Amino acid sequence: MDPATGEVVHTFKLVLVGDGGTGKTTFVKRHLTGEFEKKYIATLGVEVHPLGFQTNLGKIQFDVWDTAGQEKFGGLRDGYYIGGQCGIIMFDVTSRITYKNVPNWHRDLVRVCENVPIVLCGNKVDVKERKVKAKTITFHRKKNLQYYDISAKSNYNFEKPFLWLGRKCVDNAGMEFVAPVALAPPTESVDIAELLEANKEMRGTDVPLPDGEDDLDL
Ligand code: GDP
Ligand code: MG
Repeated sequence: MDPATGEVVHTFKLVLVGDGGTGKTTFVKRHLTGEFEKKYIATLGVEVHPLGFQTNLGKIQFDVWDTAGQEKFGGLRDGYYIGGQCGIIMFDVTSRITYKNVPNWHRDLVRVCENVPIVLCGNKVDVKERKVKAKTITFHRKKNLQYYDISAKSNYNFEKPFLWLGRKCVDNAGMEFVAPVALAPPTESVDIAELLEANKEMRGTDVPLPDGEDDLDL
C-alpha cells in the first residue's frame, strides 16, 4: 500500500545487466522520480532506483538495481542477483561485442534467478551507424525473452520493457499503464520511419535459428 495515496502497490526487484557502456545507467536515470528516490547500497556498490508506473491494476514499482560500474571488470557478485524477480539484459546496437556477451549475462542471471521474466534491450538505436542489425538479433527467440529496440537518450520505447515485465510479474496480460511517466527530456531523436524499416528485417520464427546453444553468429 502506498501510504500517500492508499493504492495497492506491487513491488518487484529488477536486475539490470549488460556490458559496461551499453547505457544501463543512462536508461534507468530517465525516470525522474526513480532518480530522485534512488538508494545507494554501499556494501554492494549498487544504486537501486524505484521506478513507479500507474496501471489499471494499481501502482507497480520496479526496484531497478544498477551497478556502479563493476561489470566492466567481469561478472557481478551473487548479491546483485539474489531475490531478483525480473531482469533486463542490455546491449549496444553500435557495438557487436556487447551483443556477443549477451549469453554470458543471461547465464549469470538465470543461474541465480531461475524462471524470471527477462527482456533483452538493444540500446542506442538513435545512432545512424548501427552495427548489430535487426536480423542478427535472435538470442531472445532461443531463450523465450522479449526483445525491444530502445534509445535511452531519446526515450524511445522506454516503457515497453517495464510493461512487458509488469504483465509477467503480476501474471495479468491485461495490465496497462494509465498515466504518462515523467521522463528526462530527450537529448537525441530517432527516425521512426527508418526504425520501422529496420525492424522489417527482424524475421519471424520461420527462419531457422543459428546452430549452437549459446553462440551468436554475427
Ligand atoms: P552503462 O555503463 O551501461 O551504465 O552505460 P552508461 O549509461 O554509462 O552510458 C555509456 C555511454 O553511452 C554514455 O556516454 C552515454 O551517454 C551513452 N548512451 C547511453 N544511452 C545512449 C543512447 O540511447 N544513445 C546514444 N547515442 N548514446 C547513449
Ligand atoms: Mg552504469
